[in-house]
Amino acid sequence: MRGNSKSPQEERRSAAASSSRRERREEDIAIIGGGIIGICAATLLCEAGRSVTVFDRTGICEETSSGNAAAFAFSDVLPMAHKGMVKQLPKWLADPLGPLAIPPAYLPKLLPWLIRFWRAGAAGHYEASLAAQAGMMKLAEAEWMGLLDRSGTRPMLREEGSLELYESEAEFRASLPGWAERERFGIDFRHVESGQMAALQPGLAPRFVKGTFVPGWKTVADPKLLGKAVWAHAERLGAAFEQARVERVEAGANGATIVLADGSRRTAKKLLIAAGAWSHLLARNLGDRIPLEAERGYNTTLPVSAFDVKRQLIFSGHGFVITPLETGLRIGGAVELAGIERPPNFARSKAMLEKAKRFLPGLDPCGGREWMGFRPSLPDSLPVIGRAKAPNVFYAFGHGHLGLTQAAATARLIRDLVLGQTPPLDLNPFRARRF
Ligand SMILES: Cc1cc2nc3c(=O)[nH]c(=O)nc-3n(C[C@H](O)[C@H](O)[C@H](O)COP(=O)(O)OP(=O)(O)OC[C@H]3O[C@@H](n4cnc5c(N)ncnc54)[C@H](O)[C@@H]3O)c2cc1C
Repeated sequence: MRGNSKSPQEERRSAAASSSRRERREEDIAIIGGGIIGICAATLLCEAGRSVTVFDRTGICEETSSGNAAAFAFSDVLPMAHKGMVKQLPKWLADPLGPLAIPPAYLPKLLPWLIRFWRAGAAGHYEASLAAQAGMMKLAEAEWMGLLDRSGTRPMLREEGSLELYESEAEFRASLPGWAERERFGIDFRHVESGQMAALQPGLAPRFVKGTFVPGWKTVADPKLLGKAVWAHAERLGAAFEQARVERVEAGANGATIVLADGSRRTAKKLLIAAGAWSHLLARNLGDRIPLEAERGYNTTLPVSAFDVKRQLIFSGHGFVITPLETGLRIGGAVELAGIERPPNFARSKAMLEKAKRFLPGLDPCGGREWMGFRPSLPDSLPVIGRAKAPNVFYAFGHGHLGLTQAAATARLIRDLVLGQTPPLDLNPFRARRF
């Protein structure tokens, strides 16, 4: 997918300007990955007066950060691995186009990750991940609001809350322990009866018997446009971009070296690896083995006119959401644990669109654009944020379902580490060597 915020001529001019800036200066900080994590980190480091170059093989927010569901899911503190989820697995896996799929041929490769995922759901681990995630979310909201203001992107924020929907009393009751846990962390929500739901979303099918409204849930007008607008702010502060595939990284006491696909080398005093679902491949060059998997997700973006959706609608029982964007109506989610090599199976997008039509009978399903992205996921649902084993290298990846939500907080933590300041959170739960 290509960006539409700049014309090709403007893109070329900006790339040339970036590249001449790069030649003029000594590289201070190099960042591999121009997704939302890499560009937010670049922005905060530039704001702190550092010179930063981002390397990406495609562009700014052109991969997973371009097509996600656009939620600032600050209340989504529950780790994926929990007892309730493990109970759902047999039912979900029975449907090859359902909320979770694992192609049998990929299972042997996935097994070590799945075992770690299962262990992460044990009571002690789960509690620790929940507390770490809740701390991260508090920081995430504060840091995003600040960054939206500083980058002039606040108008892209939508504060309409979300509506989660249940098809049976049993499904609603099964959700209650999760809501009680959120309550412990001060998250505001309100359960609604079927009769009150039309006020929050007209046109829903009568199959939904209850809902939960979360007023603090936020979305953005379009995640790709937001990423590009934040990057424009970073560029104004001097950030540079080089489009290149990084083949290998090396690090030593004096800094880091990036080896590009054409064999040329770039050096920097400090290196940040924020390469999303591909980060572990580079971390391996530095002696860190990190169990990063790709949770592949699918969606279809329909024209804005497809249906008047008032706020993000969440169908947890089916593993997907519907988000009204400035650029369309995005329908999708689901998880396919199938690695980074297999081609997409867009039957999954179609299956969710089909269900959405049943849930919103007036929906016009025509004219959609299908997409797949790779959620970079660690078994305990927490990202890796911290130092590599090698000197002068930092990691920021593995944000799974929450990379957009946690990008500004991650940037703040990385900035503090790079500048040698004390971060506002204990980074132990996020360290690379916790597995
Ligand atoms: C269907 C779906 C819905 C989602 N919904 C939400 C949501 O509503 N809210 C939320 O918070 N999160 C959501 N997410 C998750 C979120 O999109 C990700 O966590 C986030 O985009 C990850 O950002 P990133 O910068 O780590 O990775 P990416 O966006 O994947 O960026 C990594 C970049 O690194 C580059 N790269 C990798 N290797 C190399 C290399 N060797 N050389 C050069 N460049 C390289 C890639 O080109 C890429 O641009 C969703 C994800 C999916 C799939």
